[in-house]
Amino acid sequence: MRIKPHIQYTNGVALDMAKLESLTWSSRFIDETPGDKEVGGKPRQVPGACWSKVQPTEPVNPKLRLWSAEMAEILNLTKTDGGVLGGGKVVKGMQPYAQRYGGHQFGNWAHQLGDGRAITLGEVKTPTETLELQLKGAGRTPYSRFADGRAVLRSSIREFLCSEAMFHLNVPTTRALSLVTTGDTVVRDVMYDGNPAPEIGAVVCRVAPSFIRFGSFQIHTADGNHDILRTLLQHTIKHHFPQHSVNDDEGILHWLKHVAETTAEMISHWMRVGFVHGVMNTDNMSIHGLTIDYGPYGWLEDYDPNWTPNTTDASTKRYRYGQQAQIGAWNIARLAEAIAPLINDVESLYSVLEHYENKYIEFQNTNWGEKLGIKNFQESDEALVIELNELLQQVETDMTIFFRVLCHVDKPDAELISQAFYDPETIPMTEWNDWLSKWWQRVDGKPDRSTMLRANPKYVLRNWMAQLAIDAAEQEDYSICHELHNLLKQPYDEQPEMEEKWFQKRPEWARHRVGCSMLSCSS
Ligand code: AMP
Ligand code: MG
Repeated sequence: MRIKPHIQYTNGVALDMAKLESLTWSSRFIDETPGDKEVGGKPRQVPGACWSKVQPTEPVNPKLRLWSAEMAEILNLTKTDGGVLGGGKVVKGMQPYAQRYGGHQFGNWAHQLGDGRAITLGEVKTPTETLELQLKGAGRTPYSRFADGRAVLRSSIREFLCSEAMFHLNVPTTRALSLVTTGDTVVRDVMYDGNPAPEIGAVVCRVAPSFIRFGSFQIHTADGNHDILRTLLQHTIKHHFPQHSVNDDEGILHWLKHVAETTAEMISHWMRVGFVHGVMNTDNMSIHGLTIDYGPYGWLEDYDPNWTPNTTDASTKRYRYGQQAQIGAWNIARLAEAIAPLINDVESLYSVLEHYENKYIEFQNTNWGEKLGIKNFQESDEALVIELNELLQQVETDMTIFFRVLCHVDKPDAELISQAFYDPETIPMTEWNDWLSKWWQRVDGKPDRSTMLRANPKYVLRNWMAQLAIDAAEQEDYSICHELHNLLKQPYDEQPEMEEKWFQKRPEWARHRVGCSMLSCSS
């Protein structure tokens, strides 16, 4: 019998590497798709491959800081080895690799991108599904291009807290298992303005059925390598869409429509909760319709459809809140193009886009019905929604607070929603009373409150909340991270003891603060 290697955490928790080793690991992706002949190696082009085997970098002083007990339970792990989940060790069964993919970045084809700072450890079989475990920030890979393969604490906290929060908001998402600080220093120029500074390095272990993206297919089409394209598609279908078959045009179209539909559903949820992804490049679009690659994302506070948190996108605002659905369609078109070489009747691909649009409208109507407590939302109700959208933009109005207080309104009186406004002097009372009266009449004085309370979260990870957690963590105080992690496990519950602190509009200090209103891709 093997002797279980017990490792001691630097922060005093006894660790059990054998637990990780006891999981049922597999490597379906690398077993079934062609890969790089070389292991590791310098950043370079890797034509003809779907992956490169790599070795995660050993952290100098790994410390486990955040842990998702829920995710761990699914994987049958207890608090596990920070050394492994910080990148240090590879246990038996893992076969670490970086995936090769391409992508359209901000509308332009960028060719090979790939996992520049993500390393998959392997796939773990649970009683119900197989899940991929991936480290983000564990060092360079052949796809790191000019960068270091590292991640900093602030962006890792943002990914950990937000992906877990999204899961509890019922928004399709990848999840997080752990966050480990590495003890290494990582230099970043946060606003790309010539002020590089040392930051704390960190690694998040994230989890999903797979991290296959639209760009995973695009790269092979761009290479003109249709055999690999087909192999990758067959692999994807076999394990992740077993109900589909892609042996003919009809099967492929059916599958593409499935992807279009889950993508539309995901984006409609973003719109429902006020989430702005920030970098909807095709390499950041999951084939499973999951929110993936949390970077310079943000949450709408003031209801402004033109807002994007991503300063890198400030000039064109391509990825602004109000344009996410259109970008979803654009990205689906790029996926359809990538799959086109496998299809005879290329014209038929337009039906995938039509399906996306129809489904998006359907999902949006459901969401609006639920947000406003209107049972049987009809086309004729759209006027009420359009009017509401305009009104919400007239003066600075907090999206989350508005919809949440609306759940409790018991007469059509604008006084009851005054908490949602930033400046009480400027509330357009007459217009609001008018809209509330129309809404009240439509719901017959009986809005479906229980549905509203499940569609309109009380707590989301507002940009300034994440920043407060980061500021404290950078001083070694993780209490706010833990508090928010817990708070956001029940985003639809009242949690009255948390209200004063977290059910609040953006404080003034956060209005122009880097990390709150301005974020960059530097992470
Ligand atoms: P993103 O905008 O985060 O989706 O990243 C776009 C591409 O840049 C992906 O291929 C990433 O793997 C790569 N990348 C981003 N940051 C780093 C980094 N620090 N080191 C290596 N590659 C990176
Ligand atoms: Mg990415």
